[in-house]
Amino acid sequence: MRGREIKILFVNPGRGIYDMPPLGVCYLSSYLKKYGANTYKTVLADEYAGHNPVKVVRQFEPDIIGFSSATAQYQRATDLARKIRRVSDAPLVIGGLHPTALPEQVIREGFFDIAVVSEAERSFTQLVDALSESDFALDGGALRDIPGIAFKSDDEIVLTQPPNFIDDLDTIPFPDRSLLDLKHYLRRNAAIRSMITRNTTLMTSRGCPFRCIYCISVHRRKLREHSPEYVIEEMQSLVRDYNLEGLCIIDDTFIFHAKRASRIAELMLEKGIAQRLKWPCYGRANIVSRSEDSFINLLKQAGMAQMEFGFESASKRVLQFLKGKGVTPEDNEATLDRLARLDVRALATFLTGVPTETAEESRMTVEFIRRNFDRLAYFEILYLVPYPGTKVWEMYHMDDIISPSLWRNYKIGLNKRFPVDSEFTRNIDYEAADKAVNEVLSMMVRKQKLTYNLRFLRDRLRIAPLDTVKKVAAHFLGL
Ligand code: SF4
Repeated sequence: MRGREIKILFVNPGRGIYDMPPLGVCYLSSYLKKYGANTYKTVLADEYAGHNPVKVVRQFEPDIIGFSSATAQYQRATDLARKIRRVSDAPLVIGGLHPTALPEQVIREGFFDIAVVSEAERSFTQLVDALSESDFALDGGALRDIPGIAFKSDDEIVLTQPPNFIDDLDTIPFPDRSLLDLKHYLRRNAAIRSMITRNTTLMTSRGCPFRCIYCISVHRRKLREHSPEYVIEEMQSLVRDYNLEGLCIIDDTFIFHAKRASRIAELMLEKGIAQRLKWPCYGRANIVSRSEDSFINLLKQAGMAQMEFGFESASKRVLQFLKGKGVTPEDNEATLDRLARLDVRALATFLTGVPTETAEESRMTVEFIRRNFDRLAYFEILYLVPYPGTKVWEMYHMDDIISPSLWRNYKIGLNKRFPVDSEFTRNIDYEAADKAVNEVLSMMVRKQKLTYNLRFLRDRLRIAPLDTVKKVAAHFLGL
């Protein structure tokens, strides 16, 4: 028999346009409800959906409050934690990319009581049940046995043993999407670029076997995958429950095992899902350029509308510095050749402001984009940011020079120079990087005028013709 009812409030801190549902907390909720020893009432206060977390805390009176935070959200997470402390004694727990990278620093700062590191389902479930045993008082003794957490005990920061990752992903229940504000997350949007759809996200695997130096994942490097049957069952439930038109597959490497991805595509066709859903996925040039046309065609038949890539650089030296020896600019070019031939839209991001990148190397990237202007449905160029937890962070010894307050006082932007004078920034030719960013930006504006706006308009006309005509008329008549 289940024990007491525990009230848990999840907080998704941050503001702005961000249409990705916070799937991580949905997984925590469903995992708790399936595997925890008690009963649980879970609620999400989601700032992206316009909720006021402090108000929700007052109304809901949670026993535990769990924040989810990447580095870019951390400033907002600490602001909210400070405000919530004034109205609640519940333990404040934080998980996500930022505490995964810097668990001890996060605890030392004192905004949160407990940090959950890396993949959190198991640790969080154990933590919630342990806290309920002590009536939600922080009992350092009991917490020490829970893997994958950090906390403070008698002035000492304790980081427990590494977390237990879940090997068989099919044992994880579908994420508890009942937490989400569906008015916000299911409104039609352009998450599949240039296509306005009613969509949501789906994760069919966790982890990535590659080693890009700018990347951090809470799911470790080892790739684990759901079975095609599990994926199809989840897709069917999404189509049935939410009347979707699009589904964003957010796996790091959905196509890594062609056999599994092909089986998913076949089942989508067999079950009639492909006929209803358009979907994008992330690709990797060294996989796509070396795969069979028949594989890409099968994905396309199953509804794949576009593939997104991190092409990063047209200089082999810079590309391999960032992504390792397994990928070349020729792979990027061959990927575009193949996708153009098979009529699949290709989207790509590029990086500049990379330490040791020369003016000539950043110019090569700009030229690559110019040359492939027509074949790239979307592109952008960003400055490399040395996020905590990445290899580039380690390489430039950022731990020694970045004060914790940086993450609270600086709005991290991929379109901004990194603000701290360091070995990292001193190795960057910012004049060349700025020039590359400006040139690509003007190409982006041209591209969007040519394609994005026209497609957007076409889709808007289809969805709300009268309203669209009125808005266009108002725009041109200056009303
Ligand atoms: S950037 Fe993509 S391919 Fe590279 S390590 Fe991260 S998830 Fe893997």
